[in-house]
Amino acid sequence: MVNHLFVEALLSSCLAGMITGVGGFMIFIKKKYSQEYINTMLSIAAGVMLAAAFFALLVPAQKQIAALVEDIHVAGFWYAGAVFVGVALVWILNEVLPHEHAHMGHHGWGMSSKAAWLFIIAITIHKIPEGLAMGIAYGAGNLANPESLTLGIALHNIPEGLTIAISLVAAHYSRIKAALCALAIGFVQPLGALIGVLLIHADEKVIPLGMAVAGGTLLFVVINEILPETYDVKKSNRSAFAVFSGFIVMTYLCMVLD
Ligand SMILES: [Zn+2]
Repeated sequence: MVNHLFVEALLSSCLAGMITGVGGFMIFIKKKYSQEYINTMLSIAAGVMLAAAFFALLVPAQKQIAALVEDIHVAGFWYAGAVFVGVALVWILNEVLPHEHAHMGHHGWGMSSKAAWLFIIAITIHKIPEGLAMGIAYGAGNLANPESLTLGIALHNIPEGLTIAISLVAAHYSRIKAALCALAIGFVQPLGALIGVLLIHADEKVIPLGMAVAGGTLLFVVINEILPETYDVKKSNRSAFAVFSGFIVMTYLCMVLD
């Protein structure tokens, strides 16, 4: 049972992670990607991730905790606490590890090698909780919706991989090196997934709490890491539409895959 979930989580997260490489190799398709184009793609991805966090993790966790705990107020407290733990975890991770947010929009595509790497470290860091969430969803068995979550994470890895490659090319690395680096970074996700599967097998009752924690980590990644980088306040209609379209498409997929 454990082995089967273990293999499933490892294979799916490897596949999802490899999609980062697909995004990376997109650097060969076009000579130049506009900041606007990248931002729109990342905004769609943010919507996809939000829906995946809600419908594959947070909503099932809510239902399961409510079913396990008699008093609904106590259940709500446990649930909210678990989500907060997830948020706090990524926040602490961000505080402890050095990283930089993308500022490519402000000074064109020219980027110092140091800034590029700090930005890439940030993307790499946030892939740990994403992998963790996948591992937890697989470890939760049929309580969570691991396929939807994996699909959501895989989809959002495309623009992320492209962003990694673009920032490396901007820092004067060759396209092939940039694409391969994106592929390599994708494999941080299976690492997180393995930790997630191991963690959740501690105790049956821990499963829905783990799902809520995982949901919290994804919410923080989207709200604090992805949206602030991509959301164009001056063109908020377009940005909002991009987020909504990602959210709606993923909501549909979650429903169909359930
Ligand atoms: Zn991500």
